[in-house]
Amino acid sequence: MVVLKGFLFFKISLISALLSITFAHDASEKVFAKKIFGNFTSPTKLPSESVGKYNKGCLNGGVELPINGKTWQHINSKRGRNWGHPTLINFTKDLSLKVVEFGWMGLYIGDLGNPRGGPTPYGHAAHQVGLEVDIKFKKPSTLSLSLEDSHNDSRYGQPVFNELNVVSKNQRNVNSNWTREHMDILKAAAKDNRVNKIFVNAAIKVWMCKNAGSEDRSWLMKIRPERGHSEHFHVRLKCPQESPNCINTPLWNKYKNIDGCDKQLDWWVTERLEPKKKVIKKKTIKIKKKYKCSHARCYLPEDLPRACLRVMHVED
Ligand SMILES: [Zn+2]
Repeated sequence: MVVLKGFLFFKISLISALLSITFAHDASEKVFAKKIFGNFTSPTKLPSESVGKYNKGCLNGGVELPINGKTWQHINSKRGRNWGHPTLINFTKDLSLKVVEFGWMGLYIGDLGNPRGGPTPYGHAAHQVGLEVDIKFKKPSTLSLSLEDSHNDSRYGQPVFNELNVVSKNQRNVNSNWTREHMDILKAAAKDNRVNKIFVNAAIKVWMCKNAGSEDRSWLMKIRPERGHSEHFHVRLKCPQESPNCINTPLWNKYKNIDGCDKQLDWWVTERLEPKKKVIKKKTIKIKKKYKCSHARCYLPEDLPRACLRVMHVED
């Protein structure tokens, strides 16, 4: 018995030592989670599962979206963010094929997530559970760009790929780059039952509210107004059934209408864009509170769901 215990202790110590060599994650060192997850180049071999919240979670059994496909081209692949839950990979491929009906040869695909999900070293707050993808508004002219020609991230050298901005400078309208085909693509995506919501620049949703016709407008609710998102739209899928620890974000509908074309949307392109009035403050002595960063970029491993510690430490 004593011999067996001794052997087990030796085995456990050996495994822990090997793991610490492989992942070099020492909790006492306070390494940010984005650094640990950003360094993975392979997924876990466990069954595919999205864990936690879209902006505080991780991914088991991630699948890679190939850089080129018959109807898609991944952009900025050097970042290594072309991984997701199989449901997301299938959705992305399906939508890229669907757009052929609208006269596009396919889609330019932006970031999905890290091989094991989790916070990304820079950029997004979400994209952590393998259920989100950014899709470019630029209509592809070729789907066989090289790794060099398909990036626009200055961290990896001179940017080559040019984005297409579809929103006017004052952020109140779409510009002349916007086409009805863009709405057809967004509509097809929103009508897909796997989709939870889609984020676009508010000016885009305003245009769609005016031009979507009077029949069948329920899909419009899934199109959500946001800042930015003028060169790509962000698709968020619902939690897959076999991911019990994945936390869905419900659609927020203050005015209980069917399409989200309401006062809240108007605010995005009116009041929100007005210059802020200067408030003259009375001089008072204030003790500065210590700033606590709560953004995904500041998460430590222990801020993520416990199951993500396993995702971090399990071998390939
Ligand atoms: Zn995004």
